[in-house]
Amino acid sequence: MSEGLSVLSSLLLLSAMLSIILSIAWATLGRARHALTWAAAFGLGTLQWTANIAFMLLGGSTILFMTVNMLSIVVSALLAIGFRQRAGARTYLPWLLLGGVGTILLVFCTTYVVPEVAIAKAAPQIFRGVVLMLAAGAVMTPGRRTNAAERSAVGMLWAFALFSVIVAVVAIGWGGPASHLAGLDRWILLLGLPTAFAGTGLFAVFLIAADLAERMRLLASRDPLTGILNRRGFEEEARRVIANAVRHRQPLSLALADLDRFKAVNDMHGHAAGDALLCRFAGMIGEAVRTGDLFGRIGGEEFVLLLVNTPGEAAVAVVDRLRREVATQTLDTDPPMTVTTSFGVAELVPGEASLDTLIARADRALYRSKLNGRDRVSFAGREPVAEATPA
Ligand code: GH3
Ligand code: MG
Ligand code: MG
Repeated sequence: MSEGLSVLSSLLLLSAMLSIILSIAWATLGRARHALTWAAAFGLGTLQWTANIAFMLLGGSTILFMTVNMLSIVVSALLAIGFRQRAGARTYLPWLLLGGVGTILLVFCTTYVVPEVAIAKAAPQIFRGVVLMLAAGAVMTPGRRTNAAERSAVGMLWAFALFSVIVAVVAIGWGGPASHLAGLDRWILLLGLPTAFAGTGLFAVFLIAADLAERMRLLASRDPLTGILNRRGFEEEARRVIANAVRHRQPLSLALADLDRFKAVNDMHGHAAGDALLCRFAGMIGEAVRTGDLFGRIGGEEFVLLLVNTPGEAAVAVVDRLRREVATQTLDTDPPMTVTTSFGVAELVPGEASLDTLIARADRALYRSKLNGRDRVSFAGREPVAEATPA
């Protein structure tokens, strides 16, 4: 078997494998549209390499040459569409179709009408380079937050796009006779093509796995009823925020909130009405906190607020405003209800940078609010608690 044939055979098997893996990933990991698009791309890639092998074995038939190039154009377009779908960007399908059909017509004309093999070979490569760059652009749109998986995939897309452009330039032979490029041509086929295809497929699978991991992380850190942070998510983020406040010597306060006589709400109106009220309460407080502050549900009807860059007195004022806002509203639950809340506020004390002691002090203040008649805010004072875990 010649070197070229063995590389094409490897590409065929690789494409088939990636198509199967991506199909399974689509079916089992959340049925994301882009996973199916990528599975289709590598499925058609299998046909492309099959046609390419036939082209080599059957001694360069022009029909097979056209078939290989048409499939290559569709595969490139599908790969790029998958990346744009995943990034939530427009796919510009009519434009893509126009570009694809235009490239195919160019290949057709330079194959049958005015034979110009170099251009016929280069055109699909240029098309691939352009659509992959546009796919990379969709992922890196300014203002869009990206993760490490995405940034590395973009690197791969750029490398593949650049590679395609180099292949095109080599095909045209820098505009002159291509004899001195014969060696380069071979290396591109033997090294570049398998790396670019395998790399793109691996990054596609990696992105699907990374997305799943991110979804799991969100699920594990969010409260399913209200959608805000749960205890675990809050603690994780709060430790980071507290460390940051200590490092920058900024004040920080924590408030615990406990809905008053919530058991009675459940008893009178039913559990579903109680749930609706919890959601409504979470929505009201969530809207009122600043970006950078943390807000979570750490128990049944117990919530926690971490106010960054806020000294204790200011935190009490903020929380008291929230308390009054909640108490004076008739909540648009079914049936309409009013509810009051008790709060306990504690400020981070220098030298005591632990979330647990901060919560313990806020909890004692909250207990005072309950004892003193509920619907109020109590402040824990600045003295550290020695008995953070009372017997
Ligand atoms: P207090 O003013 O002393 O805080 O009285 P309370 O009734 O709010 O406090 P208690 O701790 O006695 O009762 C809390 C109630 O919260 C008990 C439980 O039925 C209710 N609860 C806890 N989690 C949920 C939930 O997810 N949904 C609903 N609907 N109710 C919940
Ligand atoms: Mg409670
Ligand atoms: Mg309560």
